[in-house]
This record gives sequence, C-alpha cells and structure tokens, in this order.
Amino acid sequence: MKKMISMVIWLPLLFLISGCNEKETKLYEDTIKSIKKVISKPEPTLSVPGFIIDSHIHYRATDEWEKSFLTIYEKFNAMGCILVNMRDLERGISFAKAHPERVIPYAAIKIDSPTVLDDIQKVYDIGFKGLGELFAVNQWNYDDPKYDPIWELAEKLGMPVAPHTGILASGQLSRMRPGYLGTIAVKFPNLIIHAAHFGNPWYNEAGEIARRNKNVFFDMTGSSLIKKDHDPGYWKNFLWWTSHIGKAHMPADAVPAFEKIVFATDESPEALEENIIRFNKVLDACGVTGETRAKCYGLTIAQIHGIEVK
Ligand SMILES: [Zn+2]
Repeated sequence: MKKMISMVIWLPLLFLISGCNEKETKLYEDTIKSIKKVISKPEPTLSVPGFIIDSHIHYRATDEWEKSFLTIYEKFNAMGCILVNMRDLERGISFAKAHPERVIPYAAIKIDSPTVLDDIQKVYDIGFKGLGELFAVNQWNYDDPKYDPIWELAEKLGMPVAPHTGILASGQLSRMRPGYLGTIAVKFPNLIIHAAHFGNPWYNEAGEIARRNKNVFFDMTGSSLIKKDHDPGYWKNFLWWTSHIGKAHMPADAVPAFEKIVFATDESPEALEENIIRFNKVLDACGVTGETRAKCYGLTIAQIHGIEVK
C-alpha cells in the first residue's frame, strides 16, 4: 500500500522529467486503479425488497416533517410505525388517517401515568394501532406486576407494544433490560412486542428472549450498528440459531434468527437511505436470505397489523 502511494507521487514527476510515453502512461493508470481498489470500501447497497415498513420512527408535529416523511417514504414504497407523543395525538391521528398507505399510528402512552389505562382505551378508540415508544424510567422494571394491566389491555385490544430497551438518551438503563420482556411475553402470549434497540448493550439477553418467545421482536436502531460498524458479522453471535432449527434445545416453532429482527430507523425521514445501507451491511455480513430480509424489511410488521402488501 505504502509502495503504491509513493508511486502515485513519483510517477507523475518522472513523466514530467522524462516526457511520458504510452507504456508509462498505462503503468500510471494501472497503479491508480489498483490503489482505488485497495482503499475503496465495498459499495454500500440500497437494495431493498419492493415494500418496507419502518417499525420505529418518531413523529414530529410540523408541516416540514410530514412533507419530508411522505416524499421520502413514497420513493421506497415504505410505511412507518409513527410514534406519536401524547401532546400531538390529534394531529398525529389526522395525519395517519389522511395517509393510510404510509402511516401506522402508535401512541406514546406514559406507562407511569395514573390515567394510563384510560389513555390506552382512548387512543385505541380514536384509531391508534399500537403503543410506543414506551419507557420504564422510574423505580419499576418493565415486568413489575404494577404494569400488568397495561399489557393485559394492549393484548385484549390487539395493540402491539414498542418498548425501548437498553441505554436511553437520558443515561438510564437498568429498568429496561430486554430480559424483562420475557416475563411479559410469557404472561401475555398474544401480546406482540416489537422492542427497540436490541437491548443495547444486552444483546445476548435480547437474542435469547427473541429466540424463545414467538411474540417478541427487536429493531436494531440506535448506536449499536454504528458501534459495531467495523464488525457487521458480530450480530451472528446473538442471532445464531438458524442452522439449529429442529434440533435439541430449540423451541418447536423456532424461526430463522433474523426473522426476529424488524427494520427501523429511529431517525429523521431524511436518514432512511443511510439506515437501509447500515442495515444491509449487517444482513450481508450475516448471510441473511432474501426471504428473511423481506420479513425484516416489512412483511413481519405487515402481518402483525393485517396490512395487505402491494
Ligand atoms: Zn428508544
């Protein structure tokens, strides 16, 4: 590499001094080509199935955000589970109803609110399809029995929940371990949980919870894929079991490991392409099949919400 770089510097000088002939020009061009090959990274890929659902994107109640979301997501034939803050419920549901081909509305109910059960019923009644993003930021873990009525009602109403897992922007972590979701998933087997951030940094725990509970899925948004950008095959350590399906110590209804992952951005609409490239790098490095990719990218969430894919 060093040798090649020094050649790039010296060759043009030699040409200048000696006057270049055809052979030397060719040598110079070939050297440049070899250097480009060595230093260029593999081409980032934007290759996606014909239909995408971003399972986790936060709504912002502005004209600019809505316009940007519609323009960019239309380009990819994409929908989004739009997570709407309680203060923006009205505008959020109007936006969703005006664009049913793009928006799956989720309400970000506060699980510690004294009115949480009424809130869930209210958001359901006005048309919200799921609940999230949820946060356990006080003194109770997600699987504290105090929260059971929330999971029970969400299960009864057929509303999937999208709890945050792992490290939070505030710096909080410990109440949102992915392991707690296992308790909920077993107690409420018909509740669909698609949790955010693959438990960062408890990936081992998140992987095992996903493997053993058919109603639990994770997205890989946040800092994890950035942190491990240099090692995109890392995720096979936790999503390991595809070749073990049907063998000992596997659930009878186990599915390929990456079927437990759902695509999401958790960023602004403009970041959709960047997130696709980042996610594809992982899927490529982990040898994920086309059939599974289609599920990650949208078919799983479509099935959960009974959305007909066009
Ligand atoms: Zn989150």
